[in-house]
Amino acid sequence: MRCECMHEFGAPLVHEDRSDPTPTGTEVLVKITAAGLCHSDLHIHSGNYDLGHGRKLEFASRGLELPVILGHEIAGEIVATGAEVKGLDTNSTYVVFPWQGCGECRKCLEGAENFCLKPRNLGFHTDGGFASMIKVKHPRYLFDIGDMDPAIAAPLACSGLTAFSALKKVEDTIAETPLVIIGAGGLGLMCVGLVQALGGLPPVVVDIDPAKRAAALEAGAGAVIDGKAEDAMAQIQAAVGAPIPSVIDFVAAPATAGMSFDMVSKGGKVILVGLFGGASDWPLPMFPLKAVSVIGSVVGSLPEFAELIDLARAGKVQPLQTTRYALEEANDAMHELEEGRIVGRAVLVP
Ligand SMILES: [Zn+2]
Ligand SMILES: [Zn+2]
Repeated sequence: MRCECMHEFGAPLVHEDRSDPTPTGTEVLVKITAAGLCHSDLHIHSGNYDLGHGRKLEFASRGLELPVILGHEIAGEIVATGAEVKGLDTNSTYVVFPWQGCGECRKCLEGAENFCLKPRNLGFHTDGGFASMIKVKHPRYLFDIGDMDPAIAAPLACSGLTAFSALKKVEDTIAETPLVIIGAGGLGLMCVGLVQALGGLPPVVVDIDPAKRAAALEAGAGAVIDGKAEDAMAQIQAAVGAPIPSVIDFVAAPATAGMSFDMVSKGGKVILVGLFGGASDWPLPMFPLKAVSVIGSVVGSLPEFAELIDLARAGKVQPLQTTRYALEEANDAMHELEEGRIVGRAVLVP
């Protein structure tokens, strides 16, 4: 197998040729046909998250051991299975659920492996998708994508699932009042499409980049607003046309989180998803006075993923625009993403 491997934080990925893995027991060997690039890959590659006030969260202290193969948005075909794998259609194409846990704790048994305290996430704790093959430890992580294009399906595993899980937390409000979405990167755009799939009104999308605002309009946003405009807040209020019950912040920088908190109305919800980094300076009395819920949302569960894949297979999830790169161009693709030049999703097609 071929892979682009991270040996050192911040350094270019290194091309390697390795012998193909052999699956045993419940394992499944998947030939990767598409691997999406996520902003998280850039964060992981940098080695830490900025927690603000000069603090950092170092991945090396959170179970990440080098070298590791990045990439957690993976789709592919089955090459071989271990002896304990039964009933898996080896002619289908699958997307891999990457947020894997121990498989034994209460959270895992409920399907919420993304909340397991012993995570084994692909592309972080174990090798991920910037490769031509991957060994998946159990068939429950494989979701049949039917005749979907693997490059369209792969990003469902992170940007799709993350947007979907965040949206499920405010689903009860989106048919009555337009949802406000901050950030029209891969996740924000995916969310715009999912709002429609769940029967919501066209959302109001805020982004500072005109190209991303245009992409949001194309994806079905009801209105787009430049977050840098002096009267941005007034424009958002006017576009929503009612007290704002819910905001999803896919950036979660100090400025956007502050703006989200200020705009949400009494009893409303702010869902923080982005990992831009930094610290917030929220006026604490306003939490009780406005009775606001600020909820963090990270990826999603196996049942949520099953629901999302069903929606996608039914054609209800708008495909993201993709820019495709060969596996060997992984460093270039990372660079383009870092520079903010990718609209939609960058996908490696080994
Ligand atoms: Zn991701
Ligand atoms: Zn567990």
